[in-house]
This record gives sequence, C-alpha cells and structure tokens, in this order.
Amino acid sequence: MAMLSEIVSQGKLVSDEIIIDLLSKRLEAGDAKGESGFILDGFPRTIRQAEILEGVTNIDLVINLKLREEALLAKCLGRRICSECRKNYNIACIDIKGENGNPGMYMAPLPPPPHCASKLITRSDDTEEVVKERLRIYNEMSRPVEDFYRSRGKLLEFNLPGGIPESWPKLLQALNLEDHEDKQTAAA
Ligand SMILES: [Zn+2]
Repeated sequence: MAMLSEIVSQGKLVSDEIIIDLLSKRLEAGDAKGESGFILDGFPRTIRQAEILEGVTNIDLVINLKLREEALLAKCLGRRICSECRKNYNIACIDIKGENGNPGMYMAPLPPPPHCASKLITRSDDTEEVVKERLRIYNEMSRPVEDFYRSRGKLLEFNLPGGIPESWPKLLQALNLEDHEDKQTAAA
C-alpha cells in the first residue's frame, strides 16, 4: 500500500473515491498473488469510507486499540526527532501506579542513542493544547465508525495494557491466536 501511505503521510486530502480505487486495486493484486488476507491500519476513518469499503470487500474484524488518554497525551508530548538523521524517538516513560482496582500501566521510553541525544527537536504542533484538540477531533470522528462496526458485531475493543511487550501477548490471546514463534519452539 505504498502509494496510499505516501499520500496519507504527506497529509494531503485525498478523495474517498481515490482511496477506495487504490485499495481495491491493491486487494485484487494480492488476491492474484494468493494472499490470504489483509490488515488495514487507520482506515476507514469516516462512516462514508466504511460504507464504500463494505461494497468493495468483506471485513471480518475491526480492532479498536484503546490507550488511556493520560498515557496517549504523555506519549505524544514525549515525541522527539533527531534534527540530523530525522529518526524518531520518545522520551516519555509511562509508569502509572495501579489504584482503586484500576491496573497500573508501564510503557518504556524509546530513548535516542548518544550521538542523537544532543540534537533532539520537538515538532511544533506536539503541544498539550494541539494534541488534546487532535484527540477530541479523533474521538468525534471515530465514534460513528465504531458504532457502524459494533452494530454489525465486528468490533473488538482492546484496552492496551502497556507498551508492545505487554500488549502483544494479550492481543493474540484476545484474537485466539498463538504466537508463531512460540509455536515453532514448541514443535521443535
Ligand atoms: Zn540522529
């Protein structure tokens, strides 16, 4: 999906028709190559896109990955870019203590190596005010899309318990999937 992600990452506005056209071509090509399935990341974002998508292909399951807003905010504010090599890092270390029956949460930072550490910059729009506004708009836009798939019995809500190491096994469990590597080890 190189072309789609290119367009999206450039922040350009692309019409739903163009997106769906590119998507169905890519799905057809995958079909022809014998691909047995696909994962769409961050699409559809609107009800209209979801409706058009329904006419193009059958979606089995929609996973709504949810992260507590305080963790989400801290992660967004912790983003740093190396001004020299342009690599992305995250200096936020999330360590929320569990209390009143709520579980704690730990998400490790992604610290820069020493040669990048002195060259870190923050994106000008990664401020608390802007991030909160982005979250508000996201919630407003995604709610109807969630309802769309919920009403079709296809929505799986998944509360992220932490970073990737904490979340991955639990996500596989929620999907009734086994870790492929574990399986190989067990067989060997
Ligand atoms: Zn660097």
